[in-house]
Amino acid sequence: MKSPAFDSRGDATADVIVVGSGVVGAMIADQLAGKGHSVLVLEAGPRIDRGQVVENWRNMPFFNRVGSDFQGLFPQSPLAPAPLYFPKNDYVLTTGPSGGSFQQGYLRVVGGTTWHWAASCWRHLPVDMRMKSTYGVGRDWPISYDELEPFYCDAEDRMGVAGPNDPALQSPSERSRPYPMDMIPWGYGDRRFAEVVNPHGYRSVPIPQARNTRPWNGRPECCGNNNCQPICPISAMYNGIHHVTSAEAKGAKVLAEAVVYKIDTDENNRVTAVHWYDAGRRTRKATGKVFVLACNGIETPRLLLIAANARNPRGIANSSDQVGRNMMDHSGFHCTFLAKEPIWTGRGPAQSSCLVGPRDGAFRSEYSANKIILNNITRVGPATTQALKLGLVGKELDDEIRRRTAFGVDLSISLEPLPDPNNRLTLSATRRDPLGLPCPDIHYDVGEYVRKGAEASRRQLEHIGSLFGAVEFHITPDLNANNHIMGGTIMGASPKDSVVDGDCRAHDHANLWLPGGGAMPSGSVVNSTLTMVALGLKAAASIERELQRA
Ligand SMILES: Cc1cc2nc3c(=O)[nH]c(=O)nc-3n(C[C@H](O)[C@H](O)[C@H](O)COP(=O)(O)OP(=O)(O)OC[C@H]3O[C@@H](n4cnc5c(N)ncnc54)[C@H](O)[C@@H]3O)c2cc1C
Ligand code: SF4
Repeated sequence: MKSPAFDSRGDATADVIVVGSGVVGAMIADQLAGKGHSVLVLEAGPRIDRGQVVENWRNMPFFNRVGSDFQGLFPQSPLAPAPLYFPKNDYVLTTGPSGGSFQQGYLRVVGGTTWHWAASCWRHLPVDMRMKSTYGVGRDWPISYDELEPFYCDAEDRMGVAGPNDPALQSPSERSRPYPMDMIPWGYGDRRFAEVVNPHGYRSVPIPQARNTRPWNGRPECCGNNNCQPICPISAMYNGIHHVTSAEAKGAKVLAEAVVYKIDTDENNRVTAVHWYDAGRRTRKATGKVFVLACNGIETPRLLLIAANARNPRGIANSSDQVGRNMMDHSGFHCTFLAKEPIWTGRGPAQSSCLVGPRDGAFRSEYSANKIILNNITRVGPATTQALKLGLVGKELDDEIRRRTAFGVDLSISLEPLPDPNNRLTLSATRRDPLGLPCPDIHYDVGEYVRKGAEASRRQLEHIGSLFGAVEFHITPDLNANNHIMGGTIMGASPKDSVVDGDCRAHDHANLWLPGGGAMPSGSVVNSTLTMVALGLKAAASIERELQRA
């Protein structure tokens, strides 16, 4: 076991310097510490305590709870802001025709954003990585599905993914190993929904999810109490913090409230050091052999741009001018209605079943794929809001809340983005964070591909509504964000039009890796964290080879 060294000033030296302790950074730190390398993880946010966050959630005002305020209950560092919505801060400014659909809800804390994710763990389809050659849109990846597949398996093992082992229920079914745990059993709502829609050409499948169906790696099995977002009280849902603590047990050092802001490079454009501000605003420096920036799809490009230096005046890793471009998310919307029969969603985890029929097809040369999740977060909150609006009191109020909770359906639709260099993160000329570092500005337009995909999806939803005899059928008119931030440090074969190679290694800097969502050249239509982690593990394998060579 090897640990980083610190001098009397607090400057550090390690074999591997990882910036960001979210699931991607933590997984890489764990992997490389396990191979005997000294690893230092620098994390902008504070360390948090699960019990305290659960308590904060219990004490949250009703308005925040029904509005899905998943950010406000997490302690924040005053020096490293995250986007907030209750009330809204202006840390990340989104503009452009679809600016409103890119309002992300990430966290800056030790363990990162998966503290409050839904833990859906999908793989890309093989064809998702060949969009240009198959459908003539978007970009092809420089690596194939088959090259990534072993890392998908590894990611599923490490996170503990429960999924269907019947190939007919898998999406995709191209896999070399079974899921580590069998699928989460469906509640009545998922079963009934599938019974109604499947005979009409839809394909409802279990969502693979990082949630335990049996005790796994020291964590208990899911007891189905439906609290997954914003926090699983019992740790049955996987969070990045689990690999933070695992890495620490192998000798890695994780420094909280360490905001990296500067990157040094030498005459060969190798990275020699990163600098951070500690909680007292003192500057510190970490030198190492290899460097990993895993700050998420917004904060990594922001840091690369902030850290521009004399040799890299457009920003670190940015000779292609692609850093911050091609920003993507699965913009989506919701469809709600009251069914003519009780569906009783809200038992079991937050999401368990999904329609994947529209995930692929020849139509993708014209418009985006979609996926339709049966949202399983209890309808009690919205039902209560609606019942109160009707002016009811006493037993009538109780009965109406119960009726709306039982009969209510909420479908969450995601659409497939294409990489567009004009969807771009830049540094604000006017807004600065408390350390004086420029805040991110993001211009976003989903484009015609997604707008047409949304139209096609609306027609499917109207049909689904008719199958349930829907009343109060409502489709949200505006697109919302889905927090799957991709594209800003895009992967490609050529250094001329991409930032990293197939191992997430920066084309411009031989000892710098930029793993995670930013590297993804196509978004598919499914949640992207499993792909981010698989890319992280592939990066870790290439770092290991590099360290062995050195
Ligand atoms: C409400 C919600 C639900 C979600 N549900 C799902 C889901 O079901 N399935 C799915 O696949 N995905 C889901 N996601 C997305 C998922 O959470 C992210 O894809 C994932 O957390 C990304 O991991 P990461 O390690 O790249 O980044 P993060 O988890 O965001 O971690 C990055 C870390 O880097 C740190 N950092 C940033 N800048 C600096 C700096 N300058 N110096 C030092 N440290 C820095 C941050 O503080 C942060 O802790 C969801 C997201 C949200 C918000
Ligand atoms: S349903 Fe409950 S136990 Fe299961 S993952 Fe969600 S919060 Fe945790």
